[in-house]
Amino acid sequence: MKIYDITLPISPNMPVWPGDPPVVLERVSSMDAGAHDNVSRLACSVHTGTHVDAPHHFLNDHRTVEALSLDVLTGPAHVIQIPEDVDLITADVLEKAAVPSRASRLLLKTRNSRFWERREREFVMDFVGISVDGAEWLVRIGVKLVGIDYLSIAPYKHSIPTHQVLLEPGIVILEGVDLSAVAPGSYTLYCLPLKLAGSDGAPARVILIG
Ligand SMILES: [Zn+2]
Repeated sequence: MKIYDITLPISPNMPVWPGDPPVVLERVSSMDAGAHDNVSRLACSVHTGTHVDAPHHFLNDHRTVEALSLDVLTGPAHVIQIPEDVDLITADVLEKAAVPSRASRLLLKTRNSRFWERREREFVMDFVGISVDGAEWLVRIGVKLVGIDYLSIAPYKHSIPTHQVLLEPGIVILEGVDLSAVAPGSYTLYCLPLKLAGSDGAPARVILIG
């Protein structure tokens, strides 16, 4: 049994979504400067690094992040390899991806994981995301949580429809997982987003055990 930490480190050097505020993580009390303790301050978008999206993010329906079910956020999960030459995850791609029947939690490992492997600091626009018909396919098979290895589940500049299709039935979207060191297969997922009251998303510590 091994524990895989698939969480991105939160730091001012990490890539953030264009237009989102930069990550601030700074010492506001410093023992090096003579203070009696070290205290840091964090400021960032709730969609920073490894994080979940709640329905409120794209549906404005007040289904917010603190209400996401822990029964969905933890449990058996499958890491599915999407071939490295795939640029868009369509229904056709998913059909061929050997997704186990009745899978509740899927983490899609794509060529995006290479960005984390080489510690890319800049935001990359040509990342792999899920198309609308891919999202509809996931809804049809009854997935409850879907994760991907870049900062959005949807292709850049086509965010809205894919998110809406997944969030409408309450599927938890997990974004920004680093799957570079994880082989495809079955694991137990523990995804624990910060309990941010009324928020549309939250950074999460996410591990796989397998
Ligand atoms: Zn997000």
